[in-house]
Amino acid sequence: MLSKVYESLGISPQVYEKGEKILSSLEKRFKEIDEIAEYNQLKVLKAMQECKVSEACLLGTTGYGYNDLGRDTLEEVYARIFGTEDALVRPQITCGTHALSLALFSNLRPGDELLSPVGKPYDTLEEVIGIRKSKGSLAEYGISYRQVDLLEEGRFDYQGIENAINEKTKMITIQRSKGYQTRPTFSVSQIGELISFVKKIKPDVICMVDNCYGEFVEKTEPSQVGADLVVGSLIKNPGGGLAPIGGYLAGTKEAIENAAYRLTSPGLGKEVGASLGILSSFYQGLFLAPTVTAGALKGAIFAANLFEQAGFKVVPNSTESRHDIIQAVTFGCAEGVIAFCEGIQKAAPVDSFVIPEPWDMPGYDSQVIMAAGAFVSGSSIELSADGPIKPPYTVYFQGGLTWNHAKFGILSAYQQVKNTGLMV
Ligand SMILES: *Cc1c(COP(=O)(O)O)cnc(C)c1O
Repeated sequence: MLSKVYESLGISPQVYEKGEKILSSLEKRFKEIDEIAEYNQLKVLKAMQECKVSEACLLGTTGYGYNDLGRDTLEEVYARIFGTEDALVRPQITCGTHALSLALFSNLRPGDELLSPVGKPYDTLEEVIGIRKSKGSLAEYGISYRQVDLLEEGRFDYQGIENAINEKTKMITIQRSKGYQTRPTFSVSQIGELISFVKKIKPDVICMVDNCYGEFVEKTEPSQVGADLVVGSLIKNPGGGLAPIGGYLAGTKEAIENAAYRLTSPGLGKEVGASLGILSSFYQGLFLAPTVTAGALKGAIFAANLFEQAGFKVVPNSTESRHDIIQAVTFGCAEGVIAFCEGIQKAAPVDSFVIPEPWDMPGYDSQVIMAAGAFVSGSSIELSADGPIKPPYTVYFQGGLTWNHAKFGILSAYQQVKNTGLMV
């Protein structure tokens, strides 16, 4: 019966059967994911109750946005969930890159140095930092940058990190998720170890974590193991698919105050910034985020198992533990990346009839192909896949607002790659 419906949507009975066989071997792992989701659901609920979220919080303000109860309460809820002193959660933060850029520009001053102890940061941050020359970069403001690459298997180069920390080092940036790389994603506990090491050498260094795609994947967040600041996008995990825009920063009072003065204006800080009518989607999305993240995580594990069995290199592999929702599949040729993305697009609720193509996307140094038929444009907590068209030709898959949709999307991508003749 189900097989027939899948067939009517372009999935052959063989591919469907293959998927079912793999799924029957994943029951135990899926149960563990459900348990983390249950824990995080209660954590979110408890924070909302303790902060006395009320019906009035779901309304918004206009104009300056003074005394925006919903906005201020939501920031308290985030601070509680992340275990931080304060948070900044705003629709005026346009995306993840903006949130990270805000965190860096507001907490660094001319003459300071930023250190990445985990290798090259996410592509769009290269221009923020000035690794690639760009107008308005940190480099233009006299803020220098150093990087310590990871050792084999993604291990931290502790000796190199110790050597790199100097009197100018003001802040370190740790990217939790792999981004467009094939290194492993770091667990919260690994991040905690790295932060303690850095703080032993220089206690007043501000430790920031790019938390994109990591929220609610584990029971704890990096801010609970020493990070002074965690930063992410609301059109990824914590927006739960409902937030139509926005970013968040959660951290120390000092770091958040700096960020607020930069986002709005010195002297104004958190006091302004009207929420318009957007807050109910922020609250409801956050409430759904643990379950949505769990569905996406199941999808990632399912994809890893399916494509690994078909002979492709997958990161993380089929059995590794998970610390973000991203799944990388390496095809070794552009056709594989393109076919995978076409399959994801075909599975979308919106724009399923369009065919994605590689393009020169701003902020990236090679062509990129993106597949997404999302309710929120560009939202990557929704079923989506993207990859730079350059060796080793790896596609990065993530999201799925429900597990059932993630499953269908992966079967569709698999079918499309199969149809191109890339698999035997
Ligand atoms: C998505 C992402 C960003 C940037 O977020 P945008 O919203 O695309 O600007 C930064 N770092 C990591 C690890 C990401 O996954």
